[in-house]
Amino acid sequence: MRKTIVAGNWKMNGTSESIRTLLADLIAGVPAVEGLVTLVCPPAVYLSQVKAQLGEAPVEVGAQNVSAHPLGAFTGEWSLAMLQDLGCDYVILGHSERRSLNGETDAEVAEKVAATLAAGLVPILCVGETLAQREAGETLSQVAAQIDAVLQRVGTEGFASVVIAYEPVWAIGTGLTATPEQAQEVHAAIRAQLAGSDAAIADKLSILYGGSMNAGNAAELLAQQDIDGGLIGGASLKADEFLTICAAAAESRK
Ligand code: PEP
Repeated sequence: MRKTIVAGNWKMNGTSESIRTLLADLIAGVPAVEGLVTLVCPPAVYLSQVKAQLGEAPVEVGAQNVSAHPLGAFTGEWSLAMLQDLGCDYVILGHSERRSLNGETDAEVAEKVAATLAAGLVPILCVGETLAQREAGETLSQVAAQIDAVLQRVGTEGFASVVIAYEPVWAIGTGLTATPEQAQEVHAAIRAQLAGSDAAIADKLSILYGGSMNAGNAAELLAQQDIDGGLIGGASLKADEFLTICAAAAESRK
């Protein structure tokens, strides 16, 4: 059975004090269930603090981005070696906010995925369509093209260690959520795309849904056959909401 992953993307939110409180609540309530990975992705400046507070708690730590370069004159960036140094195992890559606000291209995202795999961390590759693309009937071709750019760079074998997050851009931070059927359609298409070259890798691939997932809609989304967890923004900043989603994810494995 593939892993179910519930990942909190805290984006650029929190202070050392608010993070301490949020984490204490998460540690107290997080379910320890075989095959369920719970993950928080704080702002990079708080990674050390989060790692230290988590101790042996069953919560993994991820970054929200990383440079594809190993070191050097890249002011404001951080490297995979630095993330490893901090004990960070996952990296969100190609989030739509980085694609739209920082101009990250498919080719740059593919380079970051390749570098992340080479360093032994797990990339969480974000893909998704804009509202205009959905309305033009281009959802599946857009998502397939974003994945294809990475496939060309790391091959299907690379996807044995990749997690994909399908995040319709129109659903991120808007309160609009893809219906379970809309999300399932895209998740199944992603799995079929990879199954075209390796059925076993496609079957093991965890594909997360992201886009206004919350305590109220998580169970229905997570019940879909090809939805293997969530990448959660806003709702990951509230311990009770996030823990309810974790509980729904644990339930979805039964
Ligand atoms: C995200 O930023 O990845 C995300 C899914 O945000 P939200 O849950 O707030 O829509």
